[in-house]
Amino acid sequence: MVRAEWVVVGDPADSRVLDDGAVAIVDGRIAAAGPAGEVLEAHPGLPTTRLERHVLVPGLVNTHTHLAMNMLRGSAGDRDLAGFLAVVMPLEARSLTPDRVERATRAAAVELVRSGVTTSIDMYFDVESGLRGASSVGLRLLTGPTLIEGGPTTATWDEVVAAAGEWLDRRPASGTWRPVIGPHGTYTVTPDQLAEVAAVIDGRDCILQIHLSETEAENQTVLERYGSRPLGVLEAAGLLTRDTVLAHGVHLSADEIRRVAEVGAAVAHCPASNLKLASGVAPVRDLLAAGATVSLGTDGQASNDDLDLLAEMRLAALLHKGTSSGAAGPDATALPAPVALRMATLSGAEALGLEALTGSIEVGKVADLTAVDLSSPWIEPVRDPIGSLVYSASRADVAAVWVEGRAVVSEGRCVSVDERDVVRSLRSLGEEIHSS
Ligand SMILES: [Zn+2]
Repeated sequence: MVRAEWVVVGDPADSRVLDDGAVAIVDGRIAAAGPAGEVLEAHPGLPTTRLERHVLVPGLVNTHTHLAMNMLRGSAGDRDLAGFLAVVMPLEARSLTPDRVERATRAAAVELVRSGVTTSIDMYFDVESGLRGASSVGLRLLTGPTLIEGGPTTATWDEVVAAAGEWLDRRPASGTWRPVIGPHGTYTVTPDQLAEVAAVIDGRDCILQIHLSETEAENQTVLERYGSRPLGVLEAAGLLTRDTVLAHGVHLSADEIRRVAEVGAAVAHCPASNLKLASGVAPVRDLLAAGATVSLGTDGQASNDDLDLLAEMRLAALLHKGTSSGAAGPDATALPAPVALRMATLSGAEALGLEALTGSIEVGKVADLTAVDLSSPWIEPVRDPIGSLVYSASRADVAAVWVEGRAVVSEGRCVSVDERDVVRSLRSLGEEIHSS
């Protein structure tokens, strides 16, 4: 049982905050959530963690990242996407090993859970190594093969596609976990190759993740090559569905926004990465107005340069106020705090097709929970716990995190692995990469 001064129950956008609330956890699931007195009476025998001046929210969901890129953090600052890829891709090509991916992903998983994240999707190479790294920490990592011609392996495209199909056979969806297949983008994977990907995932329970319309240059390149913009190329290949997660979606037209919403695909909004690479500002308010699912992502640590989803939430809430314009003029009510929290939680679960299982504090869902301490000098006094969380708190205030009821962060520290070992290993990874 977790008892907190404030508990955000149900859809976070509805702003239902219980004062002195509690969540009863039985077999990893939420057995009850409500006023503490009622929950204690219904589940009298449960050991209780009591958290004064803390807000308990659903575990955060990161819907776009490349976790093992933490080994490249700091390697390619102050560059646009093309300049960034020109530095990063050769480094990856010569230095990736399964051992390094596992160590790097373990460190990234620690960074994520310390930031309140309980579920993350990933797009990277050496999938099994990444899964081992994440599972040692207790993070739920949805991942799978990344498909790109000329990636950091010597395998041919045909070999990569065949291996992806075999991997999907071995790793079917199960419970709160779904496999992911990640063709890199429509500018790095051809329409014929995308059609092959569609054939591989046909009939399977699987998420399709792809970078899409991250820059205007990408739109132009794809249009010139194929006579159609990235979203059209993706849809023509049969890959625009309810199971599609579009990373970035910065440069979508009004028609494309409508189409994304109609199909039920999700856009993983990555504001920090988009700003750092000067890619632009995604049309998030238009996507939301069209009824599209918009979740949040950090992107990789080499283009962000961290995995702080609380910071993305705050940035999203500020950015779309600051860029609001149009007939009604600037709008300080654009993307209010409860909507930002929803994007980081329930919308993330929707993007990954897991909304029946996680993303909100509701009876029957798994106990993915994050407790944030709101008692610091940079937060008090608390008048509106969700507003304090979004506009004042930082990840240093994340006090406790549970994944399916299992504590992975307690008293602000990751308890599943030795953080000092993880940081030592991450530091030496940076040295290995740049000396290899
Ligand atoms: Zn990315």
